[in-house]
Amino acid sequence: MTAGPARVLSVIPPMTQLNTPYPSTAYLTGFLRSRGVPAVQEDLALALVLRLFSRRGLLAIRDDIQALSVARRTSPVQSFDRDFERYLATIEPAVAFLQGRDPSLGYRIAGRKFLPEGPRFAPLEAYIDPAGGDPLAWAFGALGVQDRARHFATLYLNDIADVLRDAVDSRFEFVRYGESLAQSQASFDPLAKALAAPANLVDRALGELTLEVVARHAPSIVLVSVPFPGNVYGAFRIAQEIKRRDPSIVTVLGGGFVNTELRELAEPRVFDYFDYVTLDDGERPLLALLDHLAGKLPQEGLVRSFRRTADGVCYIDAGGPEIPFANTGTPTWDGLPLDRYLSLLDMLNPMHRLWSDARWNKLTVAHGCYWKKCSFCDVSLDYISRYEAVAAATLVDRIETIIAETGQTGFHFVDEAAPPKALKALAEELQRRQRAISWWGNIRFEKSFAPALCRLLADSGCIAVSGGLEVASDRLLKLMQKGVSVAQVARVTHAFADAGIMVHAYLMYGFPTQTVQDTVDALEYVRQLFAAGCIQSGFFHRFACTVHSPVGRDPGHYGITLQPLPKVSFARNDVGFVDPAGVDHDALGIALNKALYNFMHGLGLDTDVRDWFAGRVPRTRVPRHFIARALG
Ligand code: SF4
Repeated sequence: MTAGPARVLSVIPPMTQLNTPYPSTAYLTGFLRSRGVPAVQEDLALALVLRLFSRRGLLAIRDDIQALSVARRTSPVQSFDRDFERYLATIEPAVAFLQGRDPSLGYRIAGRKFLPEGPRFAPLEAYIDPAGGDPLAWAFGALGVQDRARHFATLYLNDIADVLRDAVDSRFEFVRYGESLAQSQASFDPLAKALAAPANLVDRALGELTLEVVARHAPSIVLVSVPFPGNVYGAFRIAQEIKRRDPSIVTVLGGGFVNTELRELAEPRVFDYFDYVTLDDGERPLLALLDHLAGKLPQEGLVRSFRRTADGVCYIDAGGPEIPFANTGTPTWDGLPLDRYLSLLDMLNPMHRLWSDARWNKLTVAHGCYWKKCSFCDVSLDYISRYEAVAAATLVDRIETIIAETGQTGFHFVDEAAPPKALKALAEELQRRQRAISWWGNIRFEKSFAPALCRLLADSGCIAVSGGLEVASDRLLKLMQKGVSVAQVARVTHAFADAGIMVHAYLMYGFPTQTVQDTVDALEYVRQLFAAGCIQSGFFHRFACTVHSPVGRDPGHYGITLQPLPKVSFARNDVGFVDPAGVDHDALGIALNKALYNFMHGLGLDTDVRDWFAGRVPRTRVPRHFIARALG
């Protein structure tokens, strides 16, 4: 490490969302600055995409294509090669349009004569308007010119991303870059092999960008925050480049992926890239590490940190109290290029639009989850189990500081489940200060969200909420310890919808002991909830058993047996299981997703839910007017 005070650079590795910065570096940078530590941040996920999706990037991709064998010239590659000059002429205007820097171009893009169209546009031809009108008008509903244009420009970028994946780097996808190399990979071998392979165009671009930010900031410590398995490969490539250039720079790995999957890390090769790996909230481990590196704290004083010693990997945790949530400082976006993020419009699902569209300031209402009981959730981990609220006045102070810094008043509260009491206090404080914002976030559909509270939240700027209905079945909701019933979810979601707040439901299938009958019944409840206007958006997730969840810790209670895990030295999270119910959930999932897609467009709401399934399934046992009756 270089002499002098530590200078910390936090980086977001590829790939994360491109419409707004992932919040981890903003939190760490805000916290470190509040403690007087010189700290800066960079978003290498955005930088990589902007470098590849530029004239220079496309020319380099074309060079790679020329060397391809005929077998690898897939349909996206052929289409790109054929229309290359048009791609080259349109890439920078299209990116500027998605960045919101050139809205007038939307008229040309929406006319569909400006951008070349590859295979990603094909599904547009498949839309059929049930009323016989303009099929795209049906697909887009009331979307205006700008939204249509953003959807087309997003498909255009997706076509180019497919070319990158087929011709340059099979790991490349906008959100899941190299995911299979990390998720629950008990062994480091596949990742080590990928990192030892010669650098391809994507690797080289990331390497150049890494060296540029290191040259710009001259950090003595680089923190790489890895939220998802799809960020791990990029994170290791970044660290590899840094260590090649200057081994004295201290590299630290942390973030959501590490907190869930690397708790049993025993792989010494990880430390060829990172000097330290920290678990759970980064604030205390970092302060201790900074003291240690400054020679003020012995190694035994480190907090929740792995490092390599002559004896192998050791975990050091000196313990001690956490930094209260109220003292973690206000996140800062200073240094991130806020006018360069891309407002993509990928799916026509209303809630997914909020996720991928527009810039949202990210903030947490409380630390952890106040409920912490759901049996499929990682309730044994700190980010769920340590619930800590903060005064509404502190929150609104943070909101005002962030607005002053970013000039933007949209907030995404990134809590796992924001508590109703805290949201009420927040709404009252916002109103007291006459502070106009828009906000959305996750909640539980619990009965405290009565109509009066929903109206108050709408008045305070709430535009959307999402919550778990999971498997809509009172038997399974009880087994999940979800603490809600289907009838209660109907009443709560209706109160939100009545207040003008969009409601998105997280839906699940494949939970232990779930039968085909349960699945048909759950879909019937979902159909009725859409028909009654209670929910406007939803997504079916396949249940996955994790080792940190109550199901993974006590499988017998849920009627399943876990498959043995291999010896773990690297990642461990998802675990396979055997459910004696023996249902083919993969086949059922196709029907569930097809039905949901149609429900979101107001279609098929009168159809018998059995019609969505390919094979024979039983008739639903749910009374036809169950939800209407629950709403009274
Ligand atoms: S699933 Fe949501 S509500 Fe349930 S324990 Fe986890 S975070 Fe809390």
